[in-house]
Amino acid sequence: MPNQQLPQQVTVRKLVESGAKLSGFVADARLPRVVEVVHQISANLEAELHFGMDESNKMIIGVEIHGAVDLTCQRCLEPVTVPLKIATTLTVVAHDEEARSCIRSHEPIVLDEGLLNIDHMLEEEILLSLPVVALHPKVLADEVSFVEHEGIERRAARGLENPFAVLKTLTTKGGQE
Ligand SMILES: [Zn+2]
Repeated sequence: MPNQQLPQQVTVRKLVESGAKLSGFVADARLPRVVEVVHQISANLEAELHFGMDESNKMIIGVEIHGAVDLTCQRCLEPVTVPLKIATTLTVVAHDEEARSCIRSHEPIVLDEGLLNIDHMLEEEILLSLPVVALHPKVLADEVSFVEHEGIERRAARGLENPFAVLKTLTTKGGQE
């Protein structure tokens, strides 16, 4: 676990040129927009940033964020812990116009005078990753199996194969070998 704080703002070009890696934790107070929408930040947020160039010589920033937040369960209204495991690559683009045309696999990021505001970037990434509806896992699992069950019945009603029938054949085959 890193015991140093991530800097709040960095000059990207310098870090790209040296292929730098930065890692550290981020105090809750640095992410007010996240604090506002979650019940609480329940595990220290840590982030790792890798700076480099892609094959077309664009500056890229690999971002990994770990931690956990408590959201309000939409069924029982009690807090539910949602782990955060975010991994993405940002491509530095010159201006908003270029950002709009950027390929979707790499998220564009526009710098302000060559500076990356790490806190704002982390806030964006965390807010994007939060589930729209949070539910306790057990409840969620029940719901999933119920939905799956319904799906199987619907397929059966339409004369489609029951996926469990395939499973049974595979199991039998495996047993004979
Ligand atoms: Zn709940």
